Amino acid sequence: MTPPPVLAPGATLGVLGGGQLGRMFVHAAQRLGYRCIVLDPDPDSPAGRVAERHLRADYLDEQALDALAREAAAVTTEFENVPAQALRRLAERAPVAPGAAAVAVCQDRALEKTLFARCGVPCAPHALIDGDAALAAVPGPLLPGILKTAQLGYDGKGQRGVDDRAQLAAAWRALGGVRCVLEQRLALASEISVVLARTSGDEIVSYPPFRNLHRDGILAVTQWPAAIDAALARDADRAARALARALDYVGVLCVEFFVDQAGRLHANEMAPRPHNSGHCTIDAADVSQFDWQVRTLAGLPLAAPRVHSSALMLNLLGDLWRDGQPPDWTAVLAMPGARLQLYGKREARPGRKMGHLTLTAGSAEAAEALAREAARQLGLAPW
Ligand code: ADP
Ligand code: MG
Repeated sequence: MTPPPVLAPGATLGVLGGGQLGRMFVHAAQRLGYRCIVLDPDPDSPAGRVAERHLRADYLDEQALDALAREAAAVTTEFENVPAQALRRLAERAPVAPGAAAVAVCQDRALEKTLFARCGVPCAPHALIDGDAALAAVPGPLLPGILKTAQLGYDGKGQRGVDDRAQLAAAWRALGGVRCVLEQRLALASEISVVLARTSGDEIVSYPPFRNLHRDGILAVTQWPAAIDAALARDADRAARALARALDYVGVLCVEFFVDQAGRLHANEMAPRPHNSGHCTIDAADVSQFDWQVRTLAGLPLAAPRVHSSALMLNLLGDLWRDGQPPDWTAVLAMPGARLQLYGKREARPGRKMGHLTLTAGSAEAAEALAREAARQLGLAPW
């Protein structure tokens, strides 16, 4: 890939997608003096409301894509399932990072698994399910397993636990008979993620791993830096770097891993953008994952991160809003070390990411204690 031109502060950066990740990108870009233009059909999108300009149109609207490419000096994406077609059209007209080919791999669990194998990165035993023949040929050891649609899944959507062949066949039909991946259900000890940034010149910076706790398929709590074995952290970092290089990736990449009860690492999936688990970098490090996204897009130096605090991040889902009313924030706002970030979404729905709360402290234990107190104050389930 040819190096992108260096875009000095003052230039306009474009974002495809206007959710909370786009909003935090816009915040980081504006802090460096960039202007932002966001393409998102929702008139009330979190990023569209803070950007200098909001193009309200469908992601496949060619006129809107051309306007984005014309007005922005470079374009990035903030959501995983951005149509590859849209990225390709943009790429013909403006520098785009990450590129369409890398995003396409991250959008497809089968392609991800092929990449893991090519890079020698272990992952759960699995099989591609694309028809009756594949169903019949499933090796016994893959069950009990988890059947996942190859594309368009997120936050636990598009997947079903299956215990035997009958359930597998029924689940595949229930998922619409689309291409799926069946994974062996691993006995997990923990889940971690690595967030890195890579430039077209192969400069790579990464954060120490995050440890993630999910509830109902949605990230609930992130501990950072993860309290895990140093060798495991090093292996996860190496694997994530190898994957980024193999994709010739430019931008911010997240790789999620499982750690099984024998202490082995298995790559799970990748996100071609900043990640929910990386939100604590805003408050616990001197350069955030969104700063890196801006810098990779603008061709600026990356700077290795200095992690100055231990952090816990609590996701705030719409379930906390009762009858549409937000919780009372007074108690958590009064806690030293607590930083609340709300995404400005007007409508709260169960499972909808409305904001997050980061608790920082001088030690992991102190951050954990603060987070437990904050969770209690907000009525969040303990972990
Ligand atoms: P999503 O795109 O919804 O995040 P994931 O593949 O990350 O999909 O799965 C969501 C969660 O389901 C994981 O974080 C993990 O808790 C659980 N899970 C997924 N696959 C497996 C597996 N093979 N074994 C055990 N647990 C799994
Ligand atoms: Mg996941």
